[in-house]
Amino acid sequence: MSDGAVSRREALATGAVLLGGAAAQRTPVYVPPPPGKKPGWALVGLGKLTIEELLPAFARCEKSRVAALVSGVPEKAKALAARYGVPEKHIYDYEAFDRVKDNPDVDVVYVVLPNSLHAEYTVRAAKAGKHVFCEKPMAPTTKECREMIAACRAANVRLMIAYRLHHEPHHLRATDLARGKELGVQLVIADLTQQVPPGTWRTDRKMGGGGPVPDIGIYCLNAARYLTGEEPAAVRATTFTPKDDLRFGDVEQRCLFTLSFPSGAQANCSCDYGLDDVSQFTMIGPDGSARMDNAFRYRGLKMTVTQRGVQRVTELAQIDQFAAEIDLFSQCILENKPHKTPGEHGLQDVTDIEAIYEAARSGRPVKLNS
Ligand code: NAD
Repeated sequence: MSDGAVSRREALATGAVLLGGAAAQRTPVYVPPPPGKKPGWALVGLGKLTIEELLPAFARCEKSRVAALVSGVPEKAKALAARYGVPEKHIYDYEAFDRVKDNPDVDVVYVVLPNSLHAEYTVRAAKAGKHVFCEKPMAPTTKECREMIAACRAANVRLMIAYRLHHEPHHLRATDLARGKELGVQLVIADLTQQVPPGTWRTDRKMGGGGPVPDIGIYCLNAARYLTGEEPAAVRATTFTPKDDLRFGDVEQRCLFTLSFPSGAQANCSCDYGLDDVSQFTMIGPDGSARMDNAFRYRGLKMTVTQRGVQRVTELAQIDQFAAEIDLFSQCILENKPHKTPGEHGLQDVTDIEAIYEAARSGRPVKLNS
């Protein structure tokens, strides 16, 4: 199963017990694992995100711990294992990764690899009987997303896609405001731009599954979905690729896309790999608006709400977004609870991204979800 109720096998894997006997057959009894049990996580891919954000976040987690590391560079893995208290025998290279199956200390595999490798490692982790937490975008194609969902379902393990902003207080408040009567948002304008260095997987169409759209445009797209609470019915898009910038031989520099939702709400989004850092959205309703600065960043989010001409900054906690989503998945596993961003949620974004590229290619609007 990719979400929902815990199975017998899943419960046992987390240390929980399902009582047997005639009474239990009438009403299955779920006995939670011992208090203090922290699921062990294997991190696959020791790149920038893992080193700079995820490993430090685990130190702040209350319900999760790092149990294993998977890397192609042994010296790096050994140094990080020593620093974060991971036994050396729990370091795997990519070829030996499947041996994680025999490591009872690992409950969850966290896939933090270039996008083109998400499907392969999700399927391998599921076959090893481990729950999967996979970075966004879920995969380059909807076909791969479906294979990932099917593999996790067949193995009876859970699959969560790492959408950290679904648990972030500013975004949760913005969502309440957007969907509530106070603002009744009808227009979302979202922008995420940054400079990318040359020669990485991000400017390789096959490895990235596209250019800036799946990598950073996905934040604008996903925000438009949760702010409106709707799925887009149609998309229009254009791309821009400069002739004189060697970074953009394979992928576009920029994509502008407009999403139209069934209620009439719309979102106007831009993502760009060759402009200075901007990360923001504005949402506008008939009687007010709200603006989020640093909207998609890890820190420093700021929301300003304007109603009847009065502006006020919303004071909310700045949390460790990574620790929050990691602990949430551990908790869902331990307590047999569903979560907000299963594989199906990631698949919807990838479906929309395929439509965005088709709209940009054809120059015509593309219908969705009809
Ligand atoms: P990165 O390039 O810094 O790290 C990728 C890692 O994968 C490296 O350790 C690299 O050695 C390893 N790797 C294994 N096989 C590889 C291969 N064949 N080619 C290239 N690298 C290979 O990337 P990153 O910024 O850490 O991003 C990793 C994933 O995390 C991506 O899916 C990205 O979209 C996602 N990400 C998410 C967030 C977020 O806020 N949720 C932020 C940044 C990145």
